[in-house]
Amino acid sequence: MNIKSSLKDIVKQIESQEKIYQRKTGSVMLLAVSKTRTVREIEAAIEAGQQQFGENYAQEGVEKIVAINNPALQWHFIGPIQSNKCRLIAEHYAWVHSVDRLKIAQRLSDARPTELPPLNICLQVNISKELSKSGVGIDAVADLAKQVQSLPQLQLRGLMAIPAAETDTRRQRQVFKQLHDVLDSLNQQGLQLDTLSMGMSNDYEAAIAEGATIVRIGSAIFGTRNQ
Ligand SMILES: *Cc1c(COP(=O)(O)O)cnc(C)c1O
Repeated sequence: MNIKSSLKDIVKQIESQEKIYQRKTGSVMLLAVSKTRTVREIEAAIEAGQQQFGENYAQEGVEKIVAINNPALQWHFIGPIQSNKCRLIAEHYAWVHSVDRLKIAQRLSDARPTELPPLNICLQVNISKELSKSGVGIDAVADLAKQVQSLPQLQLRGLMAIPAAETDTRRQRQVFKQLHDVLDSLNQQGLQLDTLSMGMSNDYEAAIAEGATIVRIGSAIFGTRNQ
């Protein structure tokens, strides 16, 4: 896998899909999901201009953040959050996409160093209603959003979802549209959310069509994962 050329291809794809789906130029951020990838692989992506990286495992991510030590980069935590990892996450990441309960949000806020800007937060919504997946239910998301919004060291930015794998583009779009509708309804209730984190290697075009502002792409940049 040539990381630099794959990355450049994805960037071009995103730019052309912004045009096709009448999205503003530059309105879709590419988050390179670097879980399980080595520092060397991440550095290849950095050399090709990538600055946003997503990690799923708190400790593994922090080791790379510290080793690479590049203040131009922004690191996003996108994996399941254990309470005992909140401090590590709050001290090293700029974004957390996977908050799905108040207790975790409170811990992240308490642990966020005050000399850093507020931690950007997305609430993970369980959009496909799969019992096995994490995420707050659609019914409970408004209450959680209002509580998270009031926490001092957090900046609630929007919603994230990991829908069930689906190959049919029309059905992919239906699910992403649902998440967009939830965001609109929260904004109608007075929240000011600007972020929809949705779309991965196999469905990012559908996500962009339905308003994604962050697409989280791993294997299409770095190759298939063993883990
Ligand atoms: C692994 C992962 C991705 C990237 O998946 P790919 O299919 O490799 O693009 C995106 N989001 C989350 C939450 C992930 O865990």
